Amino acid sequence: NHKYIATPSRTKEILAKYHFSFKKSLGQNFLIDSNILSNIIRHAGITKETGVIEIGPGIGALTEQLAIHGQKVLAFEIDQRLIPVLEDTLASYNNVEIVHEDILQANVRNMIATHFHPGQSVHLVANLPYYITTPILMKLLRDKLPIDSFTVMIQKEVAERMAAKPNSKSYGSLTLAVQYYTEAEVVMHVPKRAFMPQPNVDSSILRLVRRTKAPVSVLDEDFFFALIQASFAQRRKTLRNNLSNYFNERLTKEEISLMLEQAGIDGGRRGESLAMEEFAILANLFYPECK
Ligand code: SAM
Repeated sequence: NHKYIATPSRTKEILAKYHFSFKKSLGQNFLIDSNILSNIIRHAGITKETGVIEIGPGIGALTEQLAIHGQKVLAFEIDQRLIPVLEDTLASYNNVEIVHEDILQANVRNMIATHFHPGQSVHLVANLPYYITTPILMKLLRDKLPIDSFTVMIQKEVAERMAAKPNSKSYGSLTLAVQYYTEAEVVMHVPKRAFMPQPNVDSSILRLVRRTKAPVSVLDEDFFFALIQASFAQRRKTLRNNLSNYFNERLTKEEISLMLEQAGIDGGRRGESLAMEEFAILANLFYPECK
């Protein structure tokens, strides 16, 4: 009599048994659609050799599938009330370790080193709490952790921004930050009815594959990202105006125009039309003058 956790009936049964009440503030929307789960697993690139990190196992719907398909699962759950629930629902899987910790506070590098084999391929798979999607992903990417890919359920708009192409409404500093570290792709959109309770926003599965080499070479990463942020400060303004505002104390308008010319980039363009390579050229040109 083995019924997977990710069904409406089994989920209701578990919630009732533990008198569990959802905490909206923790982004608790549990997956109840086994079809969506198989899609996540299919795209996540998991094999019997793979180490898997999960963020927010909830009552274990996704964790269970990760345990079945992967070598070992390390899952971080912030909600103390769920720890005994998970001990129960995942009792028959001996390759799962639940860590009661806030992922934003956890020393993930250390945990990877102690829980997985040296050189083992590690993938992250999660149905993320939507209130902190971007902080979680940006922290894990900036820390340059040995995680090969991220297959995550997140808010549709955020997924589209992370995977956007230049000249689109979604393209911005978040796009460039994510794509500097990874190749990003929206795998599929997921209807609200796949969750209990249903969230207020639409969701998508996003897949990020870590790059082994940066796509552009920059003199200073912080300066590169600051210049990108400045270029999008006011989306309707031209690149020249946004950069003038930003470098205001350090460079005159004329100096900025001259450097844009030198870079071969029309200052009348908007930030959203620039490819990452163009931002890299600009950053490397401005850095020696403005660092
Ligand atoms: N994985 C389960 C599923 O798919 O049914 C639950 C996903 S639910 C969207 C997000 C989970 O993340 C919840 O269990 C919540 O308690 C947990 N969570 C929220 N903030 C967290 C944090 N900072 N660190 C770790 N887990 C967190």
